[in-house]
Amino acid sequence: MRILIVEDNRMTRRMLERYLQELGYDVLQASDGQTALDLHRRHRVPFVITDWEMPGMSGLDLVRRIRESQDGTYTYVVFLTAREGKADLVTGIGAGADDYLRKPFDKAELAVRVRAGQRIVELQERLERLAETDALTGLWNRRGLERWFADPRERAVLLEGPVAFVIGDIDHFKRVNDERGHAAGDEVLRLVAERLRAGFPPDARVVRVGGEEFLAVFRVASATEAVASTEAVRATVEARPLEVGPGQPLCLTCSFGVHVTMPGVGIADLLDAQARADHALYRSKADGRNRVTLADGCSP
Ligand code: GH3
Ligand code: MG
Ligand code: MG
Ligand code: MG
Repeated sequence: MRILIVEDNRMTRRMLERYLQELGYDVLQASDGQTALDLHRRHRVPFVITDWEMPGMSGLDLVRRIRESQDGTYTYVVFLTAREGKADLVTGIGAGADDYLRKPFDKAELAVRVRAGQRIVELQERLERLAETDALTGLWNRRGLERWFADPRERAVLLEGPVAFVIGDIDHFKRVNDERGHAAGDEVLRLVAERLRAGFPPDARVVRVGGEEFLAVFRVASATEAVASTEAVRATVEARPLEVGPGQPLCLTCSFGVHVTMPGVGIADLLDAQARADHALYRSKADGRNRVTLADGCSP
């Protein structure tokens, strides 16, 4: 786990850094609130240990700012301060801190309190991951996709482009449910999801966006490359029948629509990309299914 130490006193900062590193934590440090806030914005820091009195932005203001800026991921904050009064503790925790430790700190106490906070951070991360995962297939769900686009760091990478947006939809899936039952339909979804996951590049985000509809988002060199990757995935789905429960293995196919964003596009184009891929998917369906269509306007 990564911990950000915010402390203006160099000796104390060093001592904390050394001790937390001994405990196996990855440590970032800042000597004032503003630097800490910038670091917190730039890196994903789930745990902050902060002094109260510092030049410029105080620890108290830092805690308030962290709480205001919270975008869904939680930051656990501990005050480590020479302020001893009950009133200060009340103010500190009231401002949003999770814990309050007094200087000089006791090493063993600091260790157990950090571990207690780590349990909260890890639980939070597990819950977040769960909320972003499709329960049936284990792929990302729509919420995961939205949170991903909302993250400024992730978005900056995507906007460098080109990025492929590929929508895939199982052909005549309703027949599986009608002829083999809903449980077999679910099994087909799991198996197709696996093939998509394995077929697209390892760094692709593969999302179940709806019933039998999937979206893959990944960096590519060109639209030609995006179409070739998708064509390979289409072929894998078609190549081997799916073993689903008793009865004949099922021969299924998928149709795909591909849109590729160019470097330097804006956020609007990113949000529009899925709709453009969807449009291309429609054409694949209309043209007879089991095919890959590149959206209009994508240069090779
Ligand atoms: P097309 O080739 O035009 O895509 O035809 P289709 O039959 O695949 O598409 P349609 O939209 O007509 O039917 C999709 C079906 O997917 C209808 C719905 O009951 C089924 N479905 C959606 N979610 C699930 C699910 O989680 N499990 C199962 N078993 N079926 C689902
Ligand atoms: Mg100080
Ligand atoms: Mg379908
Ligand atoms: Mg569909």
